[in-house]
Amino acid sequence: MTSSPDWSWHDEMQVGRLINVSGTMTALGGSITAPDVAEATSSAMSRFVRIHELQARASDVISELTGAEAGFITASASAGITLAVAACLTGLDPARAEALPREPGAKDQVAVQLGHLCGYGAPVSLAVELTGASVRPVGQSTLAMDHQFAHALDERAAAALYVVSHHVVHYGQIPFERFVEIAHDKGVPVIVDAASEYDLQGFVEAGADLVIYSAHKFMGGPTAGIVAGRRDLVRAAYLQNIGIGRGMKVGKESICGAIAAMKLWMQRDHVAVRARESEALEMWKKAVGTLPGVHARRVPDPTGNPLERLQVEIDADVAGADAASFARALGRRNPAIIVRDHEVELGYFQLDPCNLAPGQAPMVADALVEELKRGAELPDEAGSAGAAVRNGGVRAYLDWLKPQ
Ligand SMILES: *Cc1c(COP(=O)(O)O)cnc(C)c1O
Repeated sequence: MTSSPDWSWHDEMQVGRLINVSGTMTALGGSITAPDVAEATSSAMSRFVRIHELQARASDVISELTGAEAGFITASASAGITLAVAACLTGLDPARAEALPREPGAKDQVAVQLGHLCGYGAPVSLAVELTGASVRPVGQSTLAMDHQFAHALDERAAAALYVVSHHVVHYGQIPFERFVEIAHDKGVPVIVDAASEYDLQGFVEAGADLVIYSAHKFMGGPTAGIVAGRRDLVRAAYLQNIGIGRGMKVGKESICGAIAAMKLWMQRDHVAVRARESEALEMWKKAVGTLPGVHARRVPDPTGNPLERLQVEIDADVAGADAASFARALGRRNPAIIVRDHEVELGYFQLDPCNLAPGQAPMVADALVEELKRGAELPDEAGSAGAAVRNGGVRAYLDWLKPQ
């Protein structure tokens, strides 16, 4: 508890100190890896290896981890979705793989429930369309019915994609088991985007043909995607490295880091990790508990991951500023405290405990109390703070290296 964070790396790199309580965010560098994972990436750097052989070892570990027949590592989960779709278009035909995205073939559509067409920093639909296939939306945003899905699985259907995410609509969607049943009835393979899920076996067990995970989210690996599933489709997805997959390639260091992260995940003391997370949540909850206009409660992860977050609900009239303004104020500190602000226009932000470094939890508690007490002094952003959060992802790109 007494260890204080080491900021020397940030200072040397001349980048801002920050504490991530928002979750595993690409824009913040994914997750922090365990020393064994860092060691595995660094050992690979100074050596040669046959990449196919290394990917075969990765496949063994993916099988052990997920129960799938086979798997491989690619650049990201987003790349994994693209390669999985491409596999369903071309099979093991190298000429067809080379013809993507120009010639997706006669089966050139991927059925996706409209409520699943979310973004994770980029639209999931684009990950499909990069192959040359098009998305066939199913149902309406808040309701997809069995007959609508079955209808979309016609002679043009190459695959059906199921997205598991806090970003998708959480009601009115076809349950996974039913989705698989309908797709398989029509002979259409099911791809699952489970990038951010702890459950590494359930989808394969329930009949998914290909499942995609991120190595750099809860698993704490280097930036990489894990594709797992039916051997024939995994092989066809891997084949795409001769075509559109080239720009999504992964190096030896990421393959080795991902292997190490998967092995560690299988040995991880998940109970101890949860206990540590719970301790941070309670510390923060207690810290803000008596502040006027602030109500904090633990909320479960919306997709059922074994993880809770602290939801800090703000009554702006009493607290003196709205949730978006507090989130921004925390982000302006040094070190910056980056909170989870996806739903901030609903009047709350959340604190995610899964990426804390030693000594950071008490710093977050102190910062929370300090900022939440200063509501009346915060810049009056009168509703604009929410819009800034909403548009912020793109704004940051447009502002990057902008001439002053
Ligand atoms: C994070 C995420 C992605 C993208 O994963 P990357 O590995 O960063 O490309 C895709 N889908 C979902 C549901 C995600 O949460």
